[in-house]
Amino acid sequence: MRSLREKLALANQKLERNYPEPKLVYQQRGTAAGTAWLNTYEIRLNPVLLMENQQAFIDEVVPHELAHLLVWKHFGRVPPHGKEWKWMMESVLGVPARRTHQFELESVRPNTFPYRCKCQQHQLTVRRHNRVVRGETTYRCVQCGETLVPER
Ligand SMILES: [Zn+2]
Ligand SMILES: [Zn+2]
Repeated sequence: MRSLREKLALANQKLERNYPEPKLVYQQRGTAAGTAWLNTYEIRLNPVLLMENQQAFIDEVVPHELAHLLVWKHFGRVPPHGKEWKWMMESVLGVPARRTHQFELESVRPNTFPYRCKCQQHQLTVRRHNRVVRGETTYRCVQCGETLVPER
């Protein structure tokens, strides 16, 4: 919250505007750290990831999502991670512009294991993965027919 206010104040000062404070909602699910919602002008943060990565949220996630909202206010609809967004991140908010957040966590990562065939990557559930490891069965790709092997 404080990092949001600080970054917003900085942006308003540099842009000589008075953009309002977005609403922070703590109900982002899954593996995304945060998302920006233009219509409702809110930032949704992932509470599980936030608890475990407070500093990364302050340094990266909140500015990243705030920049999306400010770009929309300032330029209207433009590509989400285009030059306007980069400029907003680097020149206005003073944060390196990375497209995605740098961290991921076990706690929200789907519980699957990557496998490969000839044509694509597959995700096997823990239960299926364990059956392969125990040598009880193998799985085949329905597209190319090849036996799936664990990736790496
Ligand atoms: Zn983004
Ligand atoms: Zn295949």
